[in-house]
Amino acid sequence: MKEVREFRDIVYGPVDSWRYKKSLGINILGNVKRICTYSCIYCELGPFSIKEQKNLYKFERDVFVQTNLIISEFKKFLDKYFDVITFSGAGEPTLVKNIKEVQKEIKNIIPDKPIILLTNSSLLYLNEVRKDISNFDIIDAKIDAVSEDFFKKMNRPFEFVKIENILYGIKKLKEEFKGKLHIQIMITDINYNHIEKISEFVNEIKPDEIHLNTPTREPWKKPLPPQKLLSLKKYFKDLKVRTPYD
Ligand code: SF4
Repeated sequence: MKEVREFRDIVYGPVDSWRYKKSLGINILGNVKRICTYSCIYCELGPFSIKEQKNLYKFERDVFVQTNLIISEFKKFLDKYFDVITFSGAGEPTLVKNIKEVQKEIKNIIPDKPIILLTNSSLLYLNEVRKDISNFDIIDAKIDAVSEDFFKKMNRPFEFVKIENILYGIKKLKEEFKGKLHIQIMITDINYNHIEKISEFVNEIKPDEIHLNTPTREPWKKPLPPQKLLSLKKYFKDLKVRTPYD
């Protein structure tokens, strides 16, 4: 059986990240298998059977772990060295209703460390979500496709999630957000030939950075070879592009 990643803890690491150096992870979804609006083919938390997947999808926002518990766990890591604090973990963090409160309390405790949000972008079209995440230092928003067919193949979204809402949400975030916007694109053999279309959208948005990633971890470890991934940088005009092979 292939190894999958499990997030049992609310705070984990620090872990080495190719994008953010030493990163302390905050899993505000708590001890769950996965709670997400997608079921990406390359998800490190899967794979799950079709029957199992139904129970792991979520579209309504909720409080999964009380803020005071998250903060008391966070304080246990204050003696460790880390460069950034990253909200990520067992699914999609914007599904968490107390995300704003948790981010604010952590910022009050350590004002000088950048706080980063990794999001799959599915809920960015909601005003309340963009408001809740407006005080992060960096938002790293995923986009693996710009058309419904590639979106379904790569991200296997919950039925109510539509690609036009994802594109709208990222555009609105770019207009409103005062921090840095990074765009992450996971590239596989499936969406490799779709990258030109994705780049047209991303070039229009003009994010602060673009991260071209490829699945290097189990259970779907099918990375593109370095030359193939690096050759895609040419599609992004005058923008800062990074890959794990740089
Ligand atoms: S968005 Fe992230 S957590 Fe959700 S299914 Fe995709 S890879 Fe997994």
